[in-house]
Formats: sequence, structure tokens, C-alpha cells
Amino acid sequence: MWPALAVCGVIVTFAGIFFLLFGPLGIMLLLAGPAMIAGGILLKEPNPPVPDDPTKKFCSYCSAEIEKEVSECPECGFPCD
Ligand SMILES: [Zn+2]
Repeated sequence: MWPALAVCGVIVTFAGIFFLLFGPLGIMLLLAGPAMIAGGILLKEPNPPVPDDPTKKFCSYCSAEIEKEVSECPECGFPCD
């Protein structure tokens, strides 16, 4: 179960019904939406990446593994709190 994907699928399906009023984009959304709902029910939610070393974290910008204490990524300079 991957609830976020299923919820997105419901939104896309309803958007598809709405966009049917304007043309073929709605048909594409009506194909994609139910597929996302099915995927949300069948697929397992992927786990967010966890560093092997508990004293480290991932930079939210470049995904480099960095020390937890640093306030700025040494790789890209992105401020990581
Ligand atoms: Zn970085």
C-alpha cells in the first residue's frame, strides 16, 4: 500500500474527468489516474534513504552524505539544518 500514490491517482482521475470537457488531455489523465490508484494499492511505499552511519545525513540539495552537525553542505554549500 502506497497511500500517497493512490490519493494522487484519485486527484488525477478527477482532473481527467474535468479536462475531458476541453479535449484529449482528459483521456490521458483518465488512463493515468486509475493506473496510479492500482499502483498505490499494489506497490509498497519506498523507504526514504537512510544513511548507513547514524551520525550522518543526506544533503537535501545534492544528496551527499555529510556530518549531522554541519549547517552547510561541504559538497555544494547548501544550508542543511
Ligand atoms: Zn550538498
